[in-house]
Amino acid sequence: MRLLTERPLSRRDFLKACGTLAALMGVGQSAVPRIARALEDAAARPPVVWLDFQECLGCTESMTKSRYPDFLNVVLDMISLEYSEALMAGAGRQAEKNYADTVVGQPGKYVLVVEGSVATKIPNAMTVGGRTSVDIAKEALTAAVLVVAVGNCASFGNVQAAYPNPTGAMGMLAFMEQEGIDTGKLIQLPTCPVNPVHITTTISYFLTYGKVPPMDQWHRPLVHFGRKIHDECPRRAHFDEGRFVEVLGSAEEDERLCLYKVGCRGPHTYADCATVLWNNRANWCIGSGQCIGCAEKDFWDELVDFYRPMPGVAVPGFGGIRADADTIGIGLAAATGVAIAAHLAVSAAKGRLGRNEDQVVIEEKEE
Ligand code: SF4
Ligand code: SF4
Repeated sequence: MRLLTERPLSRRDFLKACGTLAALMGVGQSAVPRIARALEDAAARPPVVWLDFQECLGCTESMTKSRYPDFLNVVLDMISLEYSEALMAGAGRQAEKNYADTVVGQPGKYVLVVEGSVATKIPNAMTVGGRTSVDIAKEALTAAVLVVAVGNCASFGNVQAAYPNPTGAMGMLAFMEQEGIDTGKLIQLPTCPVNPVHITTTISYFLTYGKVPPMDQWHRPLVHFGRKIHDECPRRAHFDEGRFVEVLGSAEEDERLCLYKVGCRGPHTYADCATVLWNNRANWCIGSGQCIGCAEKDFWDELVDFYRPMPGVAVPGFGGIRADADTIGIGLAAATGVAIAAHLAVSAAKGRLGRNEDQVVIEEKEE
C-alpha cells in the first residue's frame, strides 16, 4: 500500500534526504551511505501492520498530512503497509485476511505500529472484527519483530487512562510487561499526536541498523526524548532572567516572554519539539500557547491544572534552590550575569547540558 507518493526523488535529493535523516537520527554524516543502502534495499521492505485501538486517529492524521520531512515519502515507499484500519481501501474479510496473512503468516517478520490504548478492564469497550483489543494486542505484539507505539495513547494510555480509568486503558509498555511479552523490541513515541519526524527516523534507524535506537526507561528514543523542552526553548533566556507572561493574551505574550507562570510544562517534559517543530515545521505548542507535557506518562493526572505553574521548578542562579513562580524574578535581574554562570556550572556538574539527571537509559545489549 502506498500512501503519500507525490513525485519521485532525484538521486541527489534522495542522498540529501538521507543526510537529513542521519542528522535527525543522531548518527552522523558518515552513516549516510549505510542509510541509503538500507532504504534502497527493496528486498528488505518489512511488512507493517498498523493497529488502531482506543484513540482519536490524530496520529494517523499527523503522519499522513505531513509534507515534512519530504523523506517521509521515501520511508513509506521502503515499507509495505499491509494493514491499517484507517487507511486501507479493503474492508471486511479481505482486510482481515491481510491481517492474518501478516501476523499469523509471517511471525517474527513484521513491524507492528500501534495507535491507541488497550481496554483491559472492559475488553468489549474496544473491538475490531468481533475481537477485543486485548486479544488482538496479545497476538500481534507477541509475533512482531519491532513494535512502535505512536502517540501517548499507545505509549501510556493518555486521557483514556485518566483517573478512575474506567476501561483500564493501558499503553504498550505496561501491557507487554503485564502479559510477559518481550519489551526489548518496543519503541514508544509518546507525543500527542506523534511527530512525523519521530516515526520516520525510528523506522529508518531500524531499517539501517536492524535494532532499536538507544532509549530511556520509558522506551523513548534518546535522540528525540533525551532533553527537556525547557533546555532547548527559545524563551529560556526570559525564564533565566525572570521575565514571565502573567496573563494569557496580554502584551507580554506578544513579547514572547516565558510561559512558566501561565502553566508551561516544558520544565517537566522530555521531547525535542523545540527543534523538530510541528505542522511541516510551521510552529509548535510554545509558539502559540504552552506545553502541557504530552510526551510524559500520566501527564493528564500529574501535570494538571494546565494554566497554573507547577511548583518545585529549580530556579537558575540560586544554587539549586527550588522556588514557586511568584518568587522567581525577585532579585534575579540584578544578578543576571552571576545567575546564568551559576546555572551553567550547576547544569554542567549534573550532566544536564547533555542529559537530564532523572532519566534512566536502557543499556544496549551486546550484538
Ligand atoms: S496520542 Fe493524541 S493524537 Fe494520537 S491518537 Fe492519542 S489522542 Fe489522538
Ligand atoms: S517554562 Fe516553558 S516557555 Fe518558559 S523557558 Fe521553559 S519551556 Fe520555555
